Amino acid sequence: MVDTRHPRDDRRQGTAVSESALVWFKRDLRMADHAPLAEAAHFNAALAVFIIEPAWLGSPECHPRHVTWLLECLAPLRTSLAQRGLPLLVRVGEATEVLMELRREFPFTRLFSHEETGTGWSYERDKAVARWCQAQGVAWTEWPQTGVVRRLKDRRGWATLWQKRMDAPPVPVPAGFRMPIDFKRACLSDLLQPLPTLRDLGLPLGATALWNESTPLGLGTQQAGEDAANEVLHSFLRERALGYRRHLSSPLDAEQGCSRLSAHLAFGTLSMRTVHQATEAAIQATPSRELAYGLRGFAGRLRWHCHFMQKLEDEPSIEWRNFARTVDGLRPGDGTELQDTDRERLTAWCEGRTGFPMVDACMRQLRATGWLNFRMRAMLVSFAAYHLWLHWREPGLFLARQFLDFEPGIHWSQMQMQSGTTGINTLRIYSPTKQALDQDPQGLYIRRWVPELGTSAYPQPIVDERSALAEAKRKLYELRATPEARDEAGAIQQKHGSRRSGLPPSRPRTRKVQAADAGQGSLF
Ligand SMILES: Cc1cc2nc3c(=O)[nH]c(=O)nc-3n(C[C@H](O)[C@H](O)[C@H](O)COP(=O)(O)OP(=O)(O)OC[C@H]3O[C@@H](n4cnc5c(N)ncnc54)[C@H](O)[C@@H]3O)c2cc1C
Repeated sequence: MVDTRHPRDDRRQGTAVSESALVWFKRDLRMADHAPLAEAAHFNAALAVFIIEPAWLGSPECHPRHVTWLLECLAPLRTSLAQRGLPLLVRVGEATEVLMELRREFPFTRLFSHEETGTGWSYERDKAVARWCQAQGVAWTEWPQTGVVRRLKDRRGWATLWQKRMDAPPVPVPAGFRMPIDFKRACLSDLLQPLPTLRDLGLPLGATALWNESTPLGLGTQQAGEDAANEVLHSFLRERALGYRRHLSSPLDAEQGCSRLSAHLAFGTLSMRTVHQATEAAIQATPSRELAYGLRGFAGRLRWHCHFMQKLEDEPSIEWRNFARTVDGLRPGDGTELQDTDRERLTAWCEGRTGFPMVDACMRQLRATGWLNFRMRAMLVSFAAYHLWLHWREPGLFLARQFLDFEPGIHWSQMQMQSGTTGINTLRIYSPTKQALDQDPQGLYIRRWVPELGTSAYPQPIVDERSALAEAKRKLYELRATPEARDEAGAIQQKHGSRRSGLPPSRPRTRKVQAADAGQGSLF
């Protein structure tokens, strides 16, 4: 995948490169800070493609809400690119087949894209594309777009690398692209075609209906596309970040008080560098100490984004396997089939009818809007892992489908961290009752999402909290005390640990602040 035929020399002489370049859009649906686009602008002929892959549509993490959002991002992007003379074709099919077909119409010799840290299917796809490029004599160049480092040998110094990448000047948007007139004509019929619909793609239409249900605070329905992403970023930097650290925890305040940038980062309508640099500029510019304090808390979390993604990049198997192999087989669903009782519990959890009002309210908000704040995500997982004693993979797949911002590296690392299978973190067990009292003392949130509470329509708790937790803790602490588990913890810390990366500690040092901050997120 390393491009040895770099066009830099031709550019220095001020002439366009005589070859043809194809920009392959993936999870980078923007014009700004887009290195593959900028490179393609130096070529005599350039074309862009987005491939809607059946492997993605059929993957267990994909939900029609992701596809709807993608299509809503593609529409304005296609217009912006066309205005600069770059046709964006949207094709459906397996990547190598689409590239092959395209090459017959447009004989490109260069392929430009961003790197991707995805789940198994996209990793296999990238390997197939690399083989195809090699066989066809196409040079494929990939650029990083986050702080994730490919083929990283050692985590030491990772935070410095992140900083360097994020402080580098953003890539300018090219003024225009070149394309011979006969190719332009050939693309016209493609461009006049409307984008495919969910129906065209064979996806259920009703599945996104719930998501459009707007919640009273207004950010319930998120807007897709680069313009919307910039609006969300700037409304946060200007005003919504005031009180950010206070607003993170309660699901009532978080909806407005969190940045709400995660889906934009996941689909690449904003680059991480853009968000980082805009945040640092806002910190410098604001006269408000409180706003600056909130923004600094947010800036730290941007590093976490890439830190967690790096774990999947370094160890792709964490999507399926425990970080700590000493916990293998601990829970049903980990190498064993779920029994009927486990399945019933899982279903009740997925449907938001566990009889624990805070759990059910959060699950219902998530299903309706595609978003939930960090603490409540962690509580849902803790409930599935400790109260219901379920292995993380099936609950994780269900959540991946619900989260509009599904980002594999963050998701699978967090699923394991909140389930206690990393072998190195303090076990974080959330009591839904305490969370309800702390975060929703007047019951406003619960009443909004569980209106039938207090009537015979609401189920009894599906487990006895006290005995379920006592049993879960006993099993996990016993296991962690074994010499094998201790040895393994050391190796995991070496490979993935945040301290080794050079990231500042996520938890404050004083006990008082620690208690207030617990559950707002931490590192491993
Ligand atoms: C079980 C579980 C699964 C998760 N899955 C995802 C996922 O698939 N995609 C995703 O983007 N986030 C995930 N998170 C992390 C976090 O909950 C979301 O990033 C956050 O709620 C998104 O809302 P926001 O953009 O308003 O966040 P903000 O609080 O405004 O944070 C800003 C950005 O920082 C990053 N960030 C914040 N918290 C974390 C964290 N704990 N770990 C890593 N990065 C963080 C995200 O990029 C986020 O967009 C998960 C958390 C848990 C507990």
